[in-house]
Amino acid sequence: MKELKSGFVTLIGRPNVGKSTLMNQIIGQKIAITSKKPQTTRNRIQTVYTDMEQGQIVFVDTPGIHKAKNKLGEYMVNVAERSINDVDVVLWLVEPTTYIGEGEQSIAKRLQNVKNPVILVINKVDTVKREEVFSFIDAYRKLYDFAEIVPLSALHGDNVEELIKVIFQYLPYGPMFYDEDTVTDQPERQIVAEIVREKSLHALEDEIPHGIAVVTDSMKFRKGGKIVDIEATIICERDSHKGIIIGKQGSMLKKIGTNARYEMEKMLDCQVNLKLWVKVRKDWRDNDVLMKNYGYDKKNIDA
Ligand code: GDP
Ligand code: MG
Repeated sequence: MKELKSGFVTLIGRPNVGKSTLMNQIIGQKIAITSKKPQTTRNRIQTVYTDMEQGQIVFVDTPGIHKAKNKLGEYMVNVAERSINDVDVVLWLVEPTTYIGEGEQSIAKRLQNVKNPVILVINKVDTVKREEVFSFIDAYRKLYDFAEIVPLSALHGDNVEELIKVIFQYLPYGPMFYDEDTVTDQPERQIVAEIVREKSLHALEDEIPHGIAVVTDSMKFRKGGKIVDIEATIICERDSHKGIIIGKQGSMLKKIGTNARYEMEKMLDCQVNLKLWVKVRKDWRDNDVLMKNYGYDKKNIDA
């Protein structure tokens, strides 16, 4: 059997370049991430593409990189920049043109410090002549050292399959993060993961250099809706990091969990039963489900 790959991809690009359209095309069904409320794109949105042969791509839709004009703008830029450093691949969507404006220049500048592969997607090629596409590729090649450049039409789906193939080339081998039938994360689940992430970074201070991610594995409201059972996994890069995150006799994980739970209860307005797991991504093959959980009432060991 072919080994699966799995990873996170962030989608960046100026407003209107077609980020949401591309997401919808890839998932093959309409997910109301733009149409519903414009502010939903202020947070990261995860869209999950699963291919049982190749693996799983978790897309993180960012609000776009731009100059921060106010507090909210600043927040949005932070979210976008943080996602860039957390993911395996950066997808940068642009319009089909040889004119590289200030917006693109500033994105290129911000990407200079990014070590992850950046794939340029030249979208909307249905609106231009085929032979023109080469000149766009040339113009962008001069701007940045892209891992790949893929022209496509998100709206019509042309060349989108090729993009998927290219993305998988750059993903690490690893287990799927979500069930195969998961298409998109609930906003609440994202917020829950963000809370755990925030509390982790806070508690750990500078001990873990960026490399952590958090996924919400499950979130189930009990009948009556007064209690919610949440399981989330903190994913780190190294065994040594795992040790730090768990802490002495689980003290660090407990601290993270307590702080996160407090905030979740405020947000969800109900009692939260939180179970946290820690998983090392690099050598996952040796450890299927990695860590026991330091929950609040029960202590489970998962095999
Ligand atoms: P976002 O702001 O980056 O999420 O952009 P949207 O996905 O909301 O797209 C902005 C506009 O561009 C919409 O009107 C889309 O229909 C249009 N659009 C997106 N992709 C394509 C494409 O490949 N071809 C054409 N012709 N229009 C596109
Ligand atoms: Mg959008």
